[in-house]
Amino acid sequence: MASDHQRLGKRKSSRTSSKKGFSKGSKLKMNQLEKVSKKLKGKKLKKQKSAQVEPAPGFNSQSLVRREMSWRAGEVFSRLHQLQPPRAGASAAPATVRQPAEATPPPPPAPVPLKKPRCERLAFLTPPAAADADGGDGATPATAPSARGKKKRRKLKLVKRKLRREEEAAAETSESKLESARFRYLNEQLYTKTGFEALQMFSHDRESFDAYHQGFRNQVAKWPVNPLDLIIQNVNKMPPSHLVVDLGCGDARLATAVRQRVLSFDLVAINERVTPCDMAHVPLADGTANVVVLCLALMGTNLGDFVAEANRLLKMGGQLRIAEVASRFESVDDFVRDMKEYGFHFISKDLSHEYFYLFSMKKNAPVNGKRKDLPEIELKPCLYKRR
Ligand code: SAH
Repeated sequence: MASDHQRLGKRKSSRTSSKKGFSKGSKLKMNQLEKVSKKLKGKKLKKQKSAQVEPAPGFNSQSLVRREMSWRAGEVFSRLHQLQPPRAGASAAPATVRQPAEATPPPPPAPVPLKKPRCERLAFLTPPAAADADGGDGATPATAPSARGKKKRRKLKLVKRKLRREEEAAAETSESKLESARFRYLNEQLYTKTGFEALQMFSHDRESFDAYHQGFRNQVAKWPVNPLDLIIQNVNKMPPSHLVVDLGCGDARLATAVRQRVLSFDLVAINERVTPCDMAHVPLADGTANVVVLCLALMGTNLGDFVAEANRLLKMGGQLRIAEVASRFESVDDFVRDMKEYGFHFISKDLSHEYFYLFSMKKNAPVNGKRKDLPEIELKPCLYKRR
């Protein structure tokens, strides 16, 4: 078996002989490379000496250097061989030269064939970049996106957007349809029951009361003017010492918007400002209030009881403010006449608003025990139409 030294020597000689098959330019390059490799050898030697690396048994520093040189030479030859093939008749790179694995650059990766979508549905789901790459038809891979692909992508985007909007609108419509149907039902209940029955119904079903109020707010939000805002303006012009009673107050917004003290009553206490009760029986002494407000609250089948209670609560000369849905009035004059019977002197009316009428009155006589002899106050129920 040949020693390492012998083998390396053999490689060197075969390398020298192989130079014959190359052009003058190549030979020059080889010489330069050999010089570089000698320099490297010198550097490596120095490094080894300074590190005092012990060579493995059977090797000395010289043999290591030779081995290194020979390996580098082999690398150089193989590179040159690739760059410039030998002229006709010249021998190929010597078989004896060891070809290090790294010497040959790996072949470029084969292009990955682009898959054509199996059907139109899959093509629809293909992300835009991939859909574009096959130029739209998927048959011939294209490097630049074709105009046809772009057009198709834009169209798909529009279709997707339209579908999403339609789905959202459908979900929204069915939800709001359900909400307004529930509101209409609860509203009808309030107009067809007495105050006492309404109290019974809602005091056991807080959730329905909340649903009713949500519907009410949505409804009034569509009006150009909320009558409560006009009442707030009016009350704020009154003396701050006035005590205000708000019957059928809802969320008691009036109490937070005026400078006077306000006592708020409704069937259910939506918040801490509200005292729950049927407004036919308010837990306050006779003649306590300077002002009583009934804003969109004359619901139920016993309106006379509510108006008589307002009269009881007011001081003599006290103010009554009523706002009601315009369509509920068969005759405004009849209403004003009936109110006189209940001890109220007519001050003014505002019929200028599209959805509601406003009345200002003041107490000029007590009702007391006369209630049974008084006519019922009648207003048409306010039933909201289906959208
Ligand atoms: N005044 C408020 C709320 C109007 S909604 C506003 O303008 O924002 C009508 C309100 O009257 C409802 O909250 C309803 O619960 C209340 N209501 C109807 N009948 C009632 C009764 N018998 N006793 C007390 N509140 C009543």
